[in-house]
Amino acid sequence: LMELYMPLNWFGTYYRAIQKNFVDMENMFDLLKEEEEIVDAPGCSPLLTAGGGIEFSNVTFGYSPEKVVLRNVSFTVPAGKTVAIVGPSGAGKSTIMRLLFRFYDVQTGAIMIDGQNIKLVQQQSLRKAIGVVPQDTVLFNNTIFYNIEYAKLGASDDAVYDAARAADIHERILSFPDKYETKVGERGLRLSGGEKQRVAIARTLLKAPIIVLLDEATSALDTHTERNIQAALARVCANRTTIVVAHRLSTVIHADEILVLQQGSIAERGRHEELVLREDGIYADMWQQQLKNLDAEQSGGSDNGDA
Ligand code: ATP
Repeated sequence: LMELYMPLNWFGTYYRAIQKNFVDMENMFDLLKEEEEIVDAPGCSPLLTAGGGIEFSNVTFGYSPEKVVLRNVSFTVPAGKTVAIVGPSGAGKSTIMRLLFRFYDVQTGAIMIDGQNIKLVQQQSLRKAIGVVPQDTVLFNNTIFYNIEYAKLGASDDAVYDAARAADIHERILSFPDKYETKVGERGLRLSGGEKQRVAIARTLLKAPIIVLLDEATSALDTHTERNIQAALARVCANRTTIVVAHRLSTVIHADEILVLQQGSIAERGRHEELVLREDGIYADMWQQQLKNLDAEQSGGSDNGDA
C-alpha cells in the first residue's frame, strides 16, 4: 500500500498534491495531460445543461480497493440551489467535489447532471459546465491579465476587467507596477491568499459556468477582506447550482441544504434551523463549538488591543 504514496516522478508528486487538496482541478487538466485515467466513452455526446441540477445516487467510492471513502452517498442539488457540506477532516468532502468534476469514476452508483450520467458525456463539456473556486489557487507565471483570461482565452479586455471588478480586485490590479500586464506567480508578484482567491472568483465569473464548486478558506482572513470576499463569492454563486465545502457560519446559515458528512456517509442533513435544534446532533454540537470559539476569540481580542 505504501507504494501508492511513493511519488513516481515529479509530475506524480504534483498530481497527487493537487488531487489531495482539490486545489485547482480546472488548471490541473491542462498542466498534466499525461495522467489520463478517465477517458470519454466512445461516441459520447456533450453534456446538455438545463439549469445544472446535480444528483448523487448511491455513490460509493474509494481511492484504493482497501479503503472506502464515500459510502452510499445520495443527495440532490436542484438547479440554482446551494448545498453546503460540513464535517471533520478526512470525511470525504473534497472527494465529492473531485468526483463531480470526474477526476475519478465512482465504483457504484451514479452522478447525474440534468439527468445525464457524467460518465457518459464528453469530459470537456462537463468541465466547461463547472467552475471551481479552490482554497488555494495556482497562478501561472504570467501576467495577471492572462491569469484571469485563462478561464476563457480570447475574452475581450472589457470582459476581463468586468470580471475583476465583480471579484473586487480590479482596483488592486491597477495599483500593481504594470497594472494588468504585471507578472504574478512564483516568479512574479506574490499575491496574498485573499487576492489569489479573488483571481479564482474573477476567473469563474468570466467562465460563467452553470455549476460552481467552492472550497471555502479555512484560514481566517481579516474582517475587511472577509467581507469583500463574501460579497464577491455571493456574486459568483448567484443563480448557479452551488456545492460548497463550508467553513463559514454565514454560508451554512444561507444554504438550501446542509450535509453533515462523517466517515464517508451523510450522518445528518437539513437546513441550519432544523439541524441546530436536534438533540445530540453532530451539527448542533459543531455549532456550539463554533460559538464557543467565537466567544474565546472575542474575549481574546479585547485583551490585546494594539493601541
Ligand atoms: P479536509 O477537510 O481535511 O479537506 P475532506 O473531508 O475533504 O477533508 P477528503 O479530502 O475527501 O476529506 O479525503 C477523504 C479520505 O480520502 C481521507 O481519508 C483521505 O486521506 C483520503 N484521500 C484523499 N485523497 C486521496 C488520494 N488522492 N489518494 C488516496 N487517498 C486519498
